[in-house]
Amino acid sequence: MIKKLKCSFCDSENDVQLLPTPIDVVVDSNGNIKWIVEQLNLPICFSCRKELGFGPKTYHWIEEVLRTPFNDGRKRITDLILVPYLTNVKKLSYEEVEKTIENWFKLCNYSFREYRKPLSYQYRYVAMRNLAPMSKSRFERELKQYASDENG
Ligand SMILES: [Zn+2]
Repeated sequence: MIKKLKCSFCDSENDVQLLPTPIDVVVDSNGNIKWIVEQLNLPICFSCRKELGFGPKTYHWIEEVLRTPFNDGRKRITDLILVPYLTNVKKLSYEEVEKTIENWFKLCNYSFREYRKPLSYQYRYVAMRNLAPMSKSRFERELKQYASDENG
């Protein structure tokens, strides 16, 4: 008898796949990213994949983010959502990722010049680890934080 994979998040045995899954990303009070937990290959079920932002259907919201100007959290959105999405989901080249981010910064009325170099590091990091974008539910929770936070 074949042993079924169990989802590591909810214990379900339905539609479970072994996928590279970033466990968690932690950010300090200044908004700097501290990647304290690495990505692992984990068994994950369909509904948890959806909840955590995996699968092509769940990325539609990121295209909306790219069309929306933000006043706060722009670097975090770039590092944790846009770069992983453009790099590992859309599989864009570095030049295309840079152009897309530059255009989004313009839309946000935010200077891209100082971010050019950090972006190249972030791109390499995200590509090397095959990191997935932050989940939509987590992003929505964070949006409430930006509203009461002054750093961009
Ligand atoms: Zn699950």
